[in-house]
Amino acid sequence: MANKSILTEKTTIPTPTDQGNMTTDKQLTVVIAGAGFCGLTAAIECKLKGFIPILVESYPTSRTQGDVLDFMHNAGRHMLAWDNGSVGKKLLETGVHTAKTLDYYSAKGELLYEEPWTFHDSHAHTQFAGHRGKQHQILVDYAEKLGVDMRFGPQYSVVEYIDSDSETGVLTKGGEKILGSLVLACDGPRSLARSQVLGLPDHKVNSGYAIYRAYYDITEELRNNKLISQLCNPDEDQAAMFMGKDMHAFVYTWGKATQLAWVLTHKDEHDIGESWSFPGKVEDALADLERGGFSDFLKEVVRNTPRDRLVDYKLVWRDPIPTWLSSTKRIAVMGDAAHCHLPTSAQGACMAVEDAVTVARCLELARGEVELALQVFERLRYNRSHVIHMSSLSNRDRAHLVEWTPEKAKEHYDSMTIPHDDWIIEFDCKADADEHFERLASEVKSGKTGTIQQLSVPAGGSFEDIPDHIKIDQPAVAIASTISNEPVRS
Ligand SMILES: Cc1cc2nc3c(=O)[nH]c(=O)nc-3n(C[C@H](O)[C@H](O)[C@H](O)COP(=O)(O)OP(=O)(O)OC[C@H]3O[C@@H](n4cnc5c(N)ncnc54)[C@H](O)[C@@H]3O)c2cc1C
Repeated sequence: MANKSILTEKTTIPTPTDQGNMTTDKQLTVVIAGAGFCGLTAAIECKLKGFIPILVESYPTSRTQGDVLDFMHNAGRHMLAWDNGSVGKKLLETGVHTAKTLDYYSAKGELLYEEPWTFHDSHAHTQFAGHRGKQHQILVDYAEKLGVDMRFGPQYSVVEYIDSDSETGVLTKGGEKILGSLVLACDGPRSLARSQVLGLPDHKVNSGYAIYRAYYDITEELRNNKLISQLCNPDEDQAAMFMGKDMHAFVYTWGKATQLAWVLTHKDEHDIGESWSFPGKVEDALADLERGGFSDFLKEVVRNTPRDRLVDYKLVWRDPIPTWLSSTKRIAVMGDAAHCHLPTSAQGACMAVEDAVTVARCLELARGEVELALQVFERLRYNRSHVIHMSSLSNRDRAHLVEWTPEKAKEHYDSMTIPHDDWIIEFDCKADADEHFERLASEVKSGKTGTIQQLSVPAGGSFEDIPDHIKIDQPAVAIASTISNEPVRS
């Protein structure tokens, strides 16, 4: 089979029109807290624009643990623009890219639907479904190549955000005061900035679910295993989703059938902490699969997981927050710190990348006016991010609240599949900033009033409800009582 998505000489790399060839009136020092995909992207984009990013991260290295993370075209298109496409090429090769389809199965293993792996030909070079730790390392390497000032380690943990009239910056655990023109707080779900800078309590709510996450090498012995061999095609990566009552799973294989990752969202019956590294037990995952009536195939994938490769990660829900900006408008929270996605939006990291690309573009267009840039940034991002954040819940229910059969899937496949409408994945946040910046800037300057929803650019789309008549006859399970599908009011 032809390898459909390796970058070829004919691949068009988006022209990075804005990379370093626009002069800014002021050379900004951008202090960035947190080197997840949001902070790293912000650092790279700011460096490419001639700013001086200083990135601090409390974790000592790139995380090696982890399963797969899917970047769709709306995020990947910006990464492909980096370093003449070399970053995108590396990201592509670290994960699933020769798959033709994402196959949906019932718990019993009946094939429900075959969805194309990419939705448009151009996405073959911008859809990165790879090993999370390796993807992260690729971004760290690129930032290093650009000369970004990155400071990793517990001593660089931010303990205080400084946001006074005279100073903007952070204080680290090691006692270093790092000041800049602004701070981008990309400090993730348990953001300190959310409480310190915005004064918001951490309203986390147990979503009622947790997710087992695992990644392992497929050995020769496993390739010959009767069940696992079904996922081993050296010429074509494989991607499958399994839909069961209150549970769903993904299994990916790639790298010429040498790498496997699986995740299983399940009811959270244990008091696990909100941590990346909480070890999961294979026996517990197997018991969950047994309860859900899953086929032997998925059980075999789980059973062969090396004991030290399984993590059980609590899925915590956090409501949208009313503003992302500090009162001085020189600190912004972004990425999961501003909108902490459940994995079922399939867009959390993509939104984090979009935030980062947008903020850098706004800083460039605002020519040194930091407060203006951050206010426009918030108005560009707020509604889109809110609507996609909320889809974390509805997408999960697509899998959990319907007992999918081949007949139901045939008639209602659009209610079953993860929504990938054009307004979500074809979106170009940089072009969006270019289109709306001047208008939003003049509205900020003129003091236009309204709620953040009214002042912000419309989300551009919404998510379809699952038809009631195909739902299992039971109420929706354990979600935060405070959640509404309406945007929050400020
Ligand atoms: C199981 C799972 C699967 C997912 N799958 C997808 C997917 O397929 N596609 C998708 O788009 N999204 C997915 N997501 C969501 C995605 O992982 C997140 O939305 C995204 O990683 C958020 O990035 P971030 O940089 O904002 O936050 P994080 O990745 O959490 O990064 C925050 C960083 O800040 C650091 N930090 C925190 N506090 C401090 C401090 N005080 N000082 C210094 N550093 C600090 C942390 O160590 C961390 O490195 C998934 C999430 C989960 C849990």
